[in-house]
Amino acid sequence: MRFDLITIFPEFFAGPLEHGIVRKAREAGLIQIHVQDLREFTKDRHRSVDDRPFGGGEGMVLKPEPLFEAVEFLLGESIGDAAAKRALEPKTAIVLMSAAGKRFTQDTARRYAQLDRMLFICGRYEGVDERVAEHLATEEVSIGDFVLSGGELPAALMVDAVTRLLPGALGNEASSQNESFRVLERAEPPSVSATGKPLSADRGLLDYPHYTRPADFRGWQVPEVLIGGNHAEVAKWRREQALRKTRRNRPDLNFAIIAVCLRRAGPA
Ligand code: SAH
Repeated sequence: MRFDLITIFPEFFAGPLEHGIVRKAREAGLIQIHVQDLREFTKDRHRSVDDRPFGGGEGMVLKPEPLFEAVEFLLGESIGDAAAKRALEPKTAIVLMSAAGKRFTQDTARRYAQLDRMLFICGRYEGVDERVAEHLATEEVSIGDFVLSGGELPAALMVDAVTRLLPGALGNEASSQNESFRVLERAEPPSVSATGKPLSADRGLLDYPHYTRPADFRGWQVPEVLIGGNHAEVAKWRREQALRKTRRNRPDLNFAIIAVCLRRAGPA
């Protein structure tokens, strides 16, 4: 997988992508990361990437020309124009970071992990000329319902989430199958509720609680079942805890499934 990060602050990425799993994946050649300075595609003396908004209003807007040219340079081909727009390679995505975009989730990360190449456009100021969202980006994506000052943190976050899903990136493949937002297997919770209504299991549960040594920390004990060595009991406990945690912290996820499963599991 190759990631291209298009930004006016190339030095921003010096730290976040040089640690842990992402660093190892780079070293192992699983991913390549190229940081592209947007200002290389400006033509004026001031190297301006932004301009005032048409129609008036606050702040500045990133201009379309340098962004289109940066992407065309990186892809080695023209995007075209309103009269003749070129189609992209199907395994390439051009992702515009945007607070007004579709929500990035673990499902999005899984979809991206199937691609060969991803280009990220990091906005700044008031945002980006809308023609970039409409005619250059293949998708406009938000990392959550809040507004940041730039798209660099969101892009680094997506590179991280996608990289750890690539085969070989995690030491232990099971790690990414048993974590928060994993897709529930058909055999797990019932696919229909008590009333016979189908339930959606797409979004998965949150992770179960983890414990390590010491078993007694300041008088707070590790749950007994984890020490007993009964694997079936441990698996059952973890599943119930994952359900309880999801109900407590994210009642918006799989609420109907959780209610059914917890009723079956009985009191805590
Ligand atoms: N005026 C815009 C916010 C611009 S913030 C609005 O109200 O929606 C400047 C840039 O930061 C954006 O262009 C985008 O690239 C990035 N950004 C801010 N919040 C983001 C979020 N939640 N997800 C992804 N990118 C975000």
